[in-house]
Amino acid sequence: MSSKIKKICVYCGSNEGSGKVYMAAAEQLGLLLAERGIELVYGGAGVGVMGKLADTVLKHGGQVTGIIPEHLHKKVAHSGLTEIKVVDTMHTRKAMMIDYSDAMIALPGGLGTFEEILEAVTWQQLRLHTKPCGLLNVNGYYEYLLKFLDNAVSERFMKPEHRGILQVSSNPAELLDLLEENEPVEIPKLYGRNDV
Ligand code: AMP
Repeated sequence: MSSKIKKICVYCGSNEGSGKVYMAAAEQLGLLLAERGIELVYGGAGVGVMGKLADTVLKHGGQVTGIIPEHLHKKVAHSGLTEIKVVDTMHTRKAMMIDYSDAMIALPGGLGTFEEILEAVTWQQLRLHTKPCGLLNVNGYYEYLLKFLDNAVSERFMKPEHRGILQVSSNPAELLDLLEENEPVEIPKLYGRNDV
């Protein structure tokens, strides 16, 4: 079976997190991407979970493209990537990361990670792209976010179909398989009507 995901965008923390489990998850995912020949597209930093993920893909012979804005390039850029694209702003970077990739996922991270993956989901909801989106729920890290999204559905600010855009697994291989099988949501967002 030929795979539709050849380049995957991974959003993740520029910090390491509190437990070894987060850096270990970056290593597990990095090895899997290298083994499956999937190019990593990420924010281009050499620090935290981001740095560990890129290092692991490279160590196992995989391809890594970093996309980083000028102001971060001077401070935190990874110096050994297959390719680094330096762009003007964070907004250009985020649009380019989605444009350049076949799917977008998040590992654990902080505010930057949250807004990036939620933007990717929002843009599929608006049909600005049709690429699969996923969460690698390492150590139950995203349980509160998932409950929060369920609550948005209960409170009728979100359609269940749009909640379903986000594929979730704690296992990287299973998550990649879910993304491979995933079809973009058919139901358009309706504006200003209380029928969600
Ligand atoms: P955070 O989750 O807040 O650590 O932010 C990580 C995400 O935001 C990454 O996916 C990056 O694209 C972006 N980001 C935030 N801080 C940095 C940084 N110091 N270096 C590079 N990218 C960063």
